[in-house]
Amino acid sequence: MTFEKLQLIAPLLQALKQEGYTTPTPIQQQAIPIVLEQRDLLGCAQTGTGKTAAFALPILQLLLEEGTIAGRKPIRTLVLTPTRELAIQIAESFTAYGHHTGLRNTVVFGGVGQKPQTDALRAGVDVLIATPGRLLDLMDQGYVDLRQLKIFVLDEADRMLDMGFVHDVKRIIAKLPQKRQSLFFSATMPPEIVKLSATILTNPLRVEVTPESTTAETIQQCVYFVDKANKKSLLIHLLRDSAIDNTLVFTRTKHGADRVARDLTKFGVKAEAIHGDKGQNARQRALSNFKEKKIRVLVATDIAARGIDIDKLSHVINYELPNVPESYVHRIGRTGRAGANGKAISFCDAEERAYLQDIQKLIGMRIPLITEHPFPMDPDADFAPVAKKGKGGSPRPPRKKARTRYDKPAGFGKEKPSGFKKTSESTASTSNPPKTRINSQGNKVEVKKKRWYRKGKA
Ligand code: AMP
Repeated sequence: MTFEKLQLIAPLLQALKQEGYTTPTPIQQQAIPIVLEQRDLLGCAQTGTGKTAAFALPILQLLLEEGTIAGRKPIRTLVLTPTRELAIQIAESFTAYGHHTGLRNTVVFGGVGQKPQTDALRAGVDVLIATPGRLLDLMDQGYVDLRQLKIFVLDEADRMLDMGFVHDVKRIIAKLPQKRQSLFFSATMPPEIVKLSATILTNPLRVEVTPESTTAETIQQCVYFVDKANKKSLLIHLLRDSAIDNTLVFTRTKHGADRVARDLTKFGVKAEAIHGDKGQNARQRALSNFKEKKIRVLVATDIAARGIDIDKLSHVINYELPNVPESYVHRIGRTGRAGANGKAISFCDAEERAYLQDIQKLIGMRIPLITEHPFPMDPDADFAPVAKKGKGGSPRPPRKKARTRYDKPAGFGKEKPSGFKKTSESTASTSNPPKTRINSQGNKVEVKKKRWYRKGKA
């Protein structure tokens, strides 16, 4: 399959050649003809599949074929996406693919001054890429006229829902012209998303790709059981290995991301943090420093890392496991991209064992356990119960999201990852509590049943 066979026009083919793309990805092969036919599309696909080009290329072609409009350009395409990073990346893609088309785009998102954005809007653009909050704000102020809109793209719909943007999205949709072409993309299809898609799309064609099925096979996964207090030392120990080149380290909280970046810097590892509390400029700077290898480690929260595209990332380290198991799949998808090998290392402390179980259930496999390392878990904490310990104890964390059959990426569990030495199977069973465990010497030992007493009553 080639881009020529997809009936793309010369200015786009020229840009694709400059980008070095030779073969359309599966989502591009499926989606481009549908969009060119001006049909509505329901796309089940994640970042990393080539999804952006799958909608940007045919949109640019349709806009060009419609003809350029004399005078100030009206907005003819709106792309709504949940995060600033994604919005910027989508705008960069439109600029790159549209290089020879004369079509213009701009991007609007919150957290920065609105003046440059309103100036760009005033000058006129064919394509507007926006995050919901800032777009509504600018619409309310009268800067955005969507009356000439022809094509609407809702990107990462499930993430919009997770981030609580659904009301904003609905308010925006209510202001769009009824007669339009709509493209709807979501990585997962829980019932709320299916319902939302039905309110937006008319007689859509559905395409589905699961990127993790391709990336998972090239990602070697492993987990270290380690006490919370030793995570920092373990991370520094692992980073002594020069094979760990550029690494994305994930934390659950913004505060945690700052702390890890600070600790690494103190130990002479160049690191920066990226999260929602950082100003847009700081986030962009950290990302560029990481891409240009000026820093070795980028510490990120899930939302900040969502969608960031970094070529050939060698390692992803889950310093803290995500409490939403799907985030694990997104996180490790940052490595092993485009056929490159990658390693995903996770740290799991006693309180995170329930998260690990949920993740293993979702991906349909046990993540190989590294038992020999300098910071083995305190044996007393090792198999601390994850269920309620009694009043004041921390209950097992609830699942955040309902799963559907679409949530489980195809391909997971088909193949056992290899490549990590000294591994043994994780004893963190997904269904039954483990009866044996691996001790710090790497031997399997029986776990004696413990009785748990409330403090002071033993
Ligand atoms: P996306 O899923 O849109 O975020 O794209 C993921 C990455 O794949 C981006 O870096 C794109 O530049 C790249 N990409 C998209 N389509 C192709 C293609 N057909 N060939 C090679 N790289 C591509």
